[in-house]
Amino acid sequence: MSPTPPATVLAAIRAFEKELIAIRRDIHAHPEAGFEETRTAALVAERLRAWGITVAEGIAKTGVVGTLEGRHPGNRAIGLRADMDALFITEKTGLPYASQVPGKMHACGHDGHTAMLLGAARYLAENPDFSGTVRFIFQPAEEGLGGARVMIEEGLMERFPMAAVYGMHNAPEVELGRFALRTGPMLAASDTWTATFCGTGGHGGSGAHLATDPTQPAAAFVLATQGIIGRNVSAIEPAVLSVGHIAAGDANSPNIIPSEVVVRGTARSYAAEVRDTLERRLTEVALGLAATYGCTAKLDYLRRYPPLVNAAEQTEAAAAAATAIVGANRVDTAMPQRTGAEDFAFMLERVPGAMIFIGNGTGGAHLHRPLYDFNDEALALGSTYWVRLVQDQLSA
Ligand SMILES: [Zn+2]
Ligand SMILES: [Zn+2]
Repeated sequence: MSPTPPATVLAAIRAFEKELIAIRRDIHAHPEAGFEETRTAALVAERLRAWGITVAEGIAKTGVVGTLEGRHPGNRAIGLRADMDALFITEKTGLPYASQVPGKMHACGHDGHTAMLLGAARYLAENPDFSGTVRFIFQPAEEGLGGARVMIEEGLMERFPMAAVYGMHNAPEVELGRFALRTGPMLAASDTWTATFCGTGGHGGSGAHLATDPTQPAAAFVLATQGIIGRNVSAIEPAVLSVGHIAAGDANSPNIIPSEVVVRGTARSYAAEVRDTLERRLTEVALGLAATYGCTAKLDYLRRYPPLVNAAEQTEAAAAAATAIVGANRVDTAMPQRTGAEDFAFMLERVPGAMIFIGNGTGGAHLHRPLYDFNDEALALGSTYWVRLVQDQLSA
């Protein structure tokens, strides 16, 4: 079967757009932080069930997965993923549907992501013109807590098998009516590390030469981190090491050599080998410098989010679906790599897939700012993208 003309899908979704806007603004007014999205998850599950979609709840506490079979037989299944969590930001938009929860706000547009996927679910439930299975994945806790990872640990891919998975995030800096993505690594791995240097400490005046002083290797270490970037990582591979926190001693005791210095920072990378190199060299340099100064050190490296890597075939599929709707000249398939991170990367480590950015430009605020608001003009367009992707990928 050939896919429905995008203009027809868009018109059908525009016909119930008011419902999507109402859902989006309702979620916006009632933001919930990671793993606490109980109201949002209940709303999602209730809507999906009302449209006749099979629903599983409580995956990673508040995650919801809807399953819809096409009208035509088929063994193939694909996953479409939206995130539901809000941020700890005090909203300053003054909008009638602004956050009613002090200190929490949908400042990353996850309210819009949820509404766009619900729009696609409603259309596809009413027009199941595809063969196979669609999994509508509504995940909790994208912002820092790795809700996608927890869903996977709780059996997402085993309970709801899928051959490919797709994600979408809004981009306020991209004009409405445009899409952007790239094949391969698109967002960075984001890690946190802590170097702890220990010595005897001691009197800073009398007998200082008898102490072992951890401030010495710690100071050398801070400078040496940039040598790791310059000499251990290839000049054509992106990598960042930054120190964000240093703690030692007591401000009231400048005459005491501290016995411990803690240095904390972030590491960003794309290639797996580069990430391994950063972890290995930070450890070697910290321990080596500590030994040089008669001290000891340990380095804890916490791998938070992996790099987000779009698979070639699914990137092409995503670009083709977007192109069918807005035209090739409005789909940027060579988006520059970004240093942000996304936990959809965990799903892409398990099955091939692609994340796309949808233009949400309003001339308004950027993501994670108190004046940000998702542009509702993008809702029907985003839902249409999901529908087209399903019709393309699950064609008989
Ligand atoms: Zn965010
Ligand atoms: Zn986000």
